[in-house]
Amino acid sequence: MYLIPFYPLPSDPNTMVQFRAPDVAMATYFCKSEAYTEERDTTEYLNLLQTAETKNDSVNWTAQDRRTALWWIFINSRKDPMISFGYQCSHCGEEHWSDVNMQNLADDLTVLDVKPEMDAGTITVQGEPYEWICKPLDGHAMECLERMRQNLPPAGRDRKAYERAVTALRLWELVYQVRLADDTEKDFETSAVARHALIEKMDVNTEFTQLAAKVGEMQEKLDHGLKIRMDKGESCLLMPPHPCNSDKFKEAAIRPTTELLVTFRNSQFIPNIGTGSLANLSFQPGLVWRSANF
Ligand SMILES: [Zn+2]
Repeated sequence: MYLIPFYPLPSDPNTMVQFRAPDVAMATYFCKSEAYTEERDTTEYLNLLQTAETKNDSVNWTAQDRRTALWWIFINSRKDPMISFGYQCSHCGEEHWSDVNMQNLADDLTVLDVKPEMDAGTITVQGEPYEWICKPLDGHAMECLERMRQNLPPAGRDRKAYERAVTALRLWELVYQVRLADDTEKDFETSAVARHALIEKMDVNTEFTQLAAKVGEMQEKLDHGLKIRMDKGESCLLMPPHPCNSDKFKEAAIRPTTELLVTFRNSQFIPNIGTGSLANLSFQPGLVWRSANF
């Protein structure tokens, strides 16, 4: 069993988790991982890879802890830490490839030195006072949002229906980032449904705006892990600036850069032996599988 260095949770660096490096059995198991089961797979993957001594259910970790953990396992178990991201350049219109050494993202890593929650004080609902707490999205929330995102109607057909569904999704995103201070409900979803019903009753221009502003403040204050941005419950990773290499901008001084926001696809971070490499092997008898570099 290959162990990789201890991982301190960025939201709570006193909690250390030990992962082992993924093996072939694990890669085979997760090779069917799809975009719409990413969060569910992430929970399972992070839990299965942990050693018994420090086992800590990753569904309770923040979305940032979870994504940063995938990156941590990736950079500590791969020989080649490069990933290429293709994009259409907004400066010259051409297609560029940005080769990112994922190890360098360590420079962007931040950890919290406070508890990952923020007291939001009293905000009323139809004039009635309630005490609120703001918290980063966690694994439970990400799994719920993923299921909702999967049920979004296609964007092209009925624009209005799509926009309504996205607004509803964003409201849930907010519901999952707040708690009532005196909530004693243990079940995650039951508690969220009750909050949703309460928030729906809020006055849009006063009460709701105040709560949304608190959530924005919390996101800024409690930012941690890699540079991750959330949109519709999906995590995106902010990449280091990549210079445009078009002939239009020959002099380095005027060369514009692009900061890519890439979807943090599990398929890039969870090893995939893929049908391709195995198929190649079966056609080439005697070939030795030299590295575990999937
Ligand atoms: Zn360009």
